[in-house]
Amino acid sequence: MSAIWHPFTQHGLNEPIPQVDRAEGAALYTQDGRRVIDGISSWWVTTHGHNHPRIIAAIRDQASRLDQVIFAGWTHAPAEAVAAGLRALMPAELTRVFFSDSGSTAVEVALKMALGFHAHTGTSRSGVVVMEHSYHGDTIGTMSVGERGVFNAAYAPLLFDVDTVPFPLGDGDNTLTALETLCRDRRPAALIVEPLVLGAGGMLFYPAQVLTRMAQICRAHGVLLIADEVMTGWGRTGTLLACEQAGVVPDILCLAKGLTGGSMPLAVTMATEPIYAAHLSTDRAKTFFHSSSFTANPIACAAAAANIAIWQDEPVRTRIAALAARQTAMVARLATLPGVTNPRTCGTIAAIDLAVPDNGYLSTLAPRLLAHFREADLLLRPLGNTVYVMPPYCLDEDDHAQVEAGIVAAIGAVDRGRQ
Ligand code: PLP
Repeated sequence: MSAIWHPFTQHGLNEPIPQVDRAEGAALYTQDGRRVIDGISSWWVTTHGHNHPRIIAAIRDQASRLDQVIFAGWTHAPAEAVAAGLRALMPAELTRVFFSDSGSTAVEVALKMALGFHAHTGTSRSGVVVMEHSYHGDTIGTMSVGERGVFNAAYAPLLFDVDTVPFPLGDGDNTLTALETLCRDRRPAALIVEPLVLGAGGMLFYPAQVLTRMAQICRAHGVLLIADEVMTGWGRTGTLLACEQAGVVPDILCLAKGLTGGSMPLAVTMATEPIYAAHLSTDRAKTFFHSSSFTANPIACAAAAANIAIWQDEPVRTRIAALAARQTAMVARLATLPGVTNPRTCGTIAAIDLAVPDNGYLSTLAPRLLAHFREADLLLRPLGNTVYVMPPYCLDEDDHAQVEAGIVAAIGAVDRGRQ
């Protein structure tokens, strides 16, 4: 019996844990000889496809030169290449690049940068505003700025207080009014949001204009805008950044997952010059005190530099547009099935809800659907009664059709099971 304690896995349910031996493109190959289509990009990380030859070559090459070096006071070519590449690709206002290892650490760094900015510029602002249903990670700080619920109920005593604006309904007036009031009355330090799509919250989408207006309100009140593009970044919503669709440049931007094309753990938090300048001093007490042992690991940076090069010289946006069109067509067909509600797509992300009495993350529907997807050799992980598909951009038409057929069959099977 394995000694491994898996993440987000209830071992008491004794569900099978397949062993994956290799992967290529949109497919995972298991030890017992199955070819499984990766319909969720292995937890939203794999963008171009598994084992992209250019990324793997970069990793190999870097591993033979320099495996790891301290990043406090030292640098190396792959990190410099990533920083220069991000400066070329991302909005010009985001002039500074701080490395870390995961989406959670990118968000922790963002929160610390925001509070550091206010502390060093003497504004006496320290509160954080968050959006209902958000998810920003599983560390104490990121849980604090995320939705309170089953994911973190046991750790509630450790979490700090935040102010919450409601999830946008319709044109988002409910959110904007609440934000305006909070910004005026509470003088918070920052608003943190997942732009356009709340992922773990249930693939909830809101209009770009709401993000535009939220950014304007923040700016008017001296509140920093932190965009957590850990999931939405790198093309998922149809554009390189989701913020692009709202014409918004945040003060602080969090990127991870697709930063290395999903091949290696690496994250960055990008900041505007005033945020960096607030920490710049001959006073060592104003140093940005954050690090982890593997900050800017050279091999991970080489993978990220290769990903950036792919974005710069391969037709990634064309592939994304083609996948997005197929996702939209799939969702339109799924919408005609009995019990399917709220069909939606945002770029390459497709989602539907299934009408059940017990919706929410612990819906008993999810494990039943999961069992059907497993049988059909599909890696799909419903979020409660929400079924979503967020594949690597290389998913071809045949595999896409198989994903759709698997969803149709699973919906039919659970529907029959209910009767
Ligand atoms: N922020 C968002 C929006 C996410 O979706 C996630 C993970 O899914 C995170 C942060 C945390 O990233 P990580 O799992 O790499 O720590």
